[in-house]
Amino acid sequence: MDDILLMLPGPTTVAPRVLEAMSQAVVNHRSAIFGEILTDTSELMSEVFKTQNKSYLITGSGTAVMEAGIAAIANPGEKVLNVVGGKFGERFMKIANSHGIDSKELSVEWGKAVDPKDIKEALDADENIKAITVVHNETSTGVAAPIKEIGKLMKNYDALYVVDTVSSLGGDYVDVDKYGIDVCVTGSQKCLAAPPGMAAITLSDDAWKVVDNVNSNSYYLDMKAYKKSGGKTPPETPYTPSVSLIYALHESLKIIKEEGLDNRVKRHHKAAQATVKAVKALGLELFPDESVSSATVTAVKMPEGITDKEFRGTTRDKYGVELAGGQDHLKGNVFRIGHMGNISYKELAIAFSAIGMTLKDLNLDVDPGAGVSSITESYL
Ligand SMILES: *Cc1c(COP(=O)(O)O)cnc(C)c1O
Repeated sequence: MDDILLMLPGPTTVAPRVLEAMSQAVVNHRSAIFGEILTDTSELMSEVFKTQNKSYLITGSGTAVMEAGIAAIANPGEKVLNVVGGKFGERFMKIANSHGIDSKELSVEWGKAVDPKDIKEALDADENIKAITVVHNETSTGVAAPIKEIGKLMKNYDALYVVDTVSSLGGDYVDVDKYGIDVCVTGSQKCLAAPPGMAAITLSDDAWKVVDNVNSNSYYLDMKAYKKSGGKTPPETPYTPSVSLIYALHESLKIIKEEGLDNRVKRHHKAAQATVKAVKALGLELFPDESVSSATVTAVKMPEGITDKEFRGTTRDKYGVELAGGQDHLKGNVFRIGHMGNISYKELAIAFSAIGMTLKDLNLDVDPGAGVSSITESYL
């Protein structure tokens, strides 16, 4: 199992230091010693979010904070605009609906990025829209949304700006305060390179003002409860958190600080550029528009004549490289190369060597070394 190289959009490979941190003794989660770790972890989290506001940790996967974030700011019947251009945008909308929120869908063709002008138009058309949700990095299609530009636009509206950065935070440019993001959520198992199971959320002052007037119908995911417990001395979480996973997240955030957030984002962008070049060198085609292709995951059209099962089965079983498949209607039509977390030259060289050999094994007319050779060029 150790031999499988994860090239996934989560979970990503976890560094030995992080795994070791998890094996430390479990302490009382309502103690000074744990309070210190919780404080330190949430402060490091705020540094990665680039916000002066507090970050809250919730035990659960990324979906938990998507739900906590949306349930915190809208009452049933209130309107929220959901930008939907893939699986995760759709999830935000479904979560809103499940809370009785009146969701307005702004549909974007899968593989394309939302045009901020369309958001402006939707907001101008309906002044009752209380918030918008945007997925920064639509992991299902490999598309990055222009969250900075949308942020500029949102400064002219009272509606809150909710952004899912689950598969981008720590891998692409996110600046919560500068972009004017009101609710920002992320998960542990993507670019932060910690094990799955922890999620983080931060809210602006404007968002907190709204929270106080919302009767959240969520119990475990009630942000008021997290705020109250987090404000205690020492700080706590309302319910027992995964102490061990917080140790792990703490360690992975220390690693991010050591690398430097900016260096880390640049490393991801470089990996993305190298990946796109290598994909083309193998004669394969990107799924999304290249100009909006993600910094952390590249979606590629499945070549004609081979199935997802034989393609990804071969890269994994014969060459030890785990790639991701397509989701929903893209199942079988695309495969995705995750290059988030601890990915650099070494992993990409192995991955593209495996992809090239697999295409050859499946009788495609390709130069099997073209991808790995392109990676070499990119990193020379
Ligand atoms: C992974 C992911 C999530 C959360 O998924 P979980 O499986 O709940 O962690 C949310 N949004 C995006 C964009 C993601 O990539």
